Amino acid sequence: MGGMVNQGKGRFSRLARVILQKALPSGKAPTSERLSRGCGSLPGALLPHDAWTTLSCVPSRCRDLAGGFLDLLYPPSCIGCESYELVGADMDWCEGCLNQLPWIHHPMCAACGRPFPKSSSTADHLCGDCILDTFHFDFARSPFYHAGVIRESLHAIKFGAEIHLIRPVAQLLAKTIVEWEHGGFDLVIPVPLHPLRLRERGFNQSALLARFLSKSISAPLGLNILKRTLWTVPQTGLSREERLSNVKNAFRVEHPQLSKGKRVLLVDDVFTTGTTLSECAGILKKSGAREVLAVTVSRVMLERGIQGGSQGEGGGPLENSRL
Ligand SMILES: [Zn+2]
Ligand SMILES: [Zn+2]
Repeated sequence: MGGMVNQGKGRFSRLARVILQKALPSGKAPTSERLSRGCGSLPGALLPHDAWTTLSCVPSRCRDLAGGFLDLLYPPSCIGCESYELVGADMDWCEGCLNQLPWIHHPMCAACGRPFPKSSSTADHLCGDCILDTFHFDFARSPFYHAGVIRESLHAIKFGAEIHLIRPVAQLLAKTIVEWEHGGFDLVIPVPLHPLRLRERGFNQSALLARFLSKSISAPLGLNILKRTLWTVPQTGLSREERLSNVKNAFRVEHPQLSKGKRVLLVDDVFTTGTTLSECAGILKKSGAREVLAVTVSRVMLERGIQGGSQGEGGGPLENSRL
């Protein structure tokens, strides 16, 4: 499956979607759903009430007509192999490609989701970190090992600005959250980038994932609640202790009243040692959040010989420039 993304017979269709994506606000992919949201993003405060009432009817028609027309011209196809036989209307994947992804299976840590691929047992249990109560988040889950197409896709998003890959990846993350027994959230918050990094990159991949999830699970998105205030060195090559001190006090909660008493879904792209997520969860809880549950697309296995583990403690390029 290596290098499968964005290749194959449907290149023209993909190109059309990417071109439309660039034409739409905030880097969203041009699905029918997003076309409708483009209409709906008009600033209501600037419109007279009756005009707003009229325009509020437009998005669904805009979605149905423009989206339907687009799908007719360019039928949605699998992000992996361009097959038109998708597993569902809300999934950009065919069954064959889904089955080849590096899914994490049980048994895993019942709290932080760490997989135990070598365990002969099928029952979940706590890992050493969670027995020692290492993390400030209450629970964490990742659907995938940081390997194969998932690793390629996250890398392409982060370093190649291939924002159109957010949607198929986030669909799978949303599926995991919906099936998670700890579902039901009051607020979705992404792990923030330092403002200088955000300005340099132009987007925060975790915020894009969080925005998709917020809509999928119908929970409000809190983009400006958690701020990254310290410029820290790259986490690569640092031990767990060094990572911990590296992100210590790197975050601040603004408007704590917005997260007070809330059950928060904290979103990031990759779980390496969990120190960043834990620090974010700790500051949120200190500011009054009732519970913080963390989700990432993938999880790095630090032991060598296990999928994704060749990167060792450094966590690979995905976290190299995390600030
Ligand atoms: Zn496929
Ligand atoms: Zn654990």
